[in-house]
Amino acid sequence: MKAAEIRDKFLQFFASQGHTIVRSSSLVPNNDPTLLFTNSGMVQFKDVFLGVDKRPYSRATSAQRSVRAGGKHNDLENVGYTARHHTFFEMLGNFSFGDYFKRDAIRYAWTLLTEVYRLPADKLWVTVYHEDDEAYDLWAKEIGVPTERIIRIGDNKGARYASDNFWQMGDTGPCGPCSEVFYDHGPDVWGGPPGSPEEDGDRYIEIWNLVFMQFNRDATGTLTPLPKPCVDTGMGLERIAAVLQHVHSNYEIDLFQRLIRAAARETGIDDLGNNSLKVIADHIRACSFLIVDGVIPGNEGRGYVLRRIVRRAIRHGYKLGRKQPFFHRLVDDLVEEMGGAYPELADARARVTDILRQEETRFFETIEHGMSILENAIADIETASTAQPDAPRQLAGDVAFKLHDTYGFPLDLTADVCRERGLSVDEVAFDAAMARQRDQARAAGKFKMAQGLEYRGDKTAFTGYEAIVADDVSV
Ligand code: ATP
Ligand code: MG
Ligand code: MG
Ligand code: MG
Repeated sequence: MKAAEIRDKFLQFFASQGHTIVRSSSLVPNNDPTLLFTNSGMVQFKDVFLGVDKRPYSRATSAQRSVRAGGKHNDLENVGYTARHHTFFEMLGNFSFGDYFKRDAIRYAWTLLTEVYRLPADKLWVTVYHEDDEAYDLWAKEIGVPTERIIRIGDNKGARYASDNFWQMGDTGPCGPCSEVFYDHGPDVWGGPPGSPEEDGDRYIEIWNLVFMQFNRDATGTLTPLPKPCVDTGMGLERIAAVLQHVHSNYEIDLFQRLIRAAARETGIDDLGNNSLKVIADHIRACSFLIVDGVIPGNEGRGYVLRRIVRRAIRHGYKLGRKQPFFHRLVDDLVEEMGGAYPELADARARVTDILRQEETRFFETIEHGMSILENAIADIETASTAQPDAPRQLAGDVAFKLHDTYGFPLDLTADVCRERGLSVDEVAFDAAMARQRDQARAAGKFKMAQGLEYRGDKTAFTGYEAIVADDVSV
């Protein structure tokens, strides 16, 4: 079953159960300063959950374009390292606004998975919030999932991958306990069931999260009950497609294969399993859709996240030997793959290509020089650690800062190159170098004022400052 058909079947199933099909909203949340990007299907319904917005329907379903590359949900560092994380993905969801609650949410999910998608029930595992006996009993008694495959999970705050069965949109906003469905890809893949020490592996993959929205969290952390309990679910289209296409990695599904072939064509690589191709294929989706939704590469906030993703993609192309812009040429392939489901992408084709080409051209001017500085520094560290095995395998903060300040290497890009080589970056020293430059910039600004020069505000007082502002954004 192709991704397009899976998406369609999902929406049709919920439409047949009285849900209104609602179009995906923009990746830039409408009037929500608490959120960098739309990270899930519920974002466009946030105010409906809170009871401050009303819709003509009490049940909805959608395929929502989502980005997790900043803020509370950030998977940028997982791309290229797991089989299941993207920066951009599509979230299939069904929603109840004070209509049905746990029982129907669980029933619908099970029916869709086992009867419409025809997944074997014995490959499915479920988790519930550790105190949620109601959800536990629904799975065990009404659905009949054997209790060996129902796992109670708490809220593992702070763990990078670990299951966490209390879902929240961000630091504030609607939240509640959740129940998740996992698929066992079988013993050929490393990993353990949810809640086990090996759960970070890619064997048991979380496919669907059913959130029982019950609270609103305010800035002080206090939970207030929502006017009515609601349901918000999210299933990653790429993950369920991997299951239904009998492949293990999301990157092997039909939708990604075309993009990977395109990335291979543009970089002249034959081995379609090359990891950099996956990263490039992931990043062209995120970058293009962000531009479709009005984000442009820049030095602050959303624009800086976009710039970082573009530069990471270019760095992977560079690693494969590209010395000239190539990334923008994947836009046409993406439009062919996804323009049908997202006409706004097809409409924006020329603009997206143009903006990416400009951004690429800019970074290709400095990448070569920057990479040679970085390679030399890495070589020095490697030499030192051969001579002295317990020497710290860490890139100095001032090198990372110079790369950032002079060559346009975002810190996360430098850190990613280092990570591939088993090194870390001295981020404390990087921050200190950044702070030093900021102080100098302020002093320079004051000096100009004292001299009676035109004062144009801190931001323009020093050429390096924009970059500093960029890293001040909490993303
Ligand atoms: P994981 O634990 O695998 O990181 P999550 O618990 O962070 O996933 P949720 O916030 O529960 O994910 O989102 C609902 C669903 O969206 C997940 O069950 C999964 O199918 C999908 N999903 C989440 N993050 C990603 C991602 N980065 N790429 C692709 N699909 C994702
Ligand atoms: Mg996650
Ligand atoms: Mg999870
Ligand atoms: Mg989850």
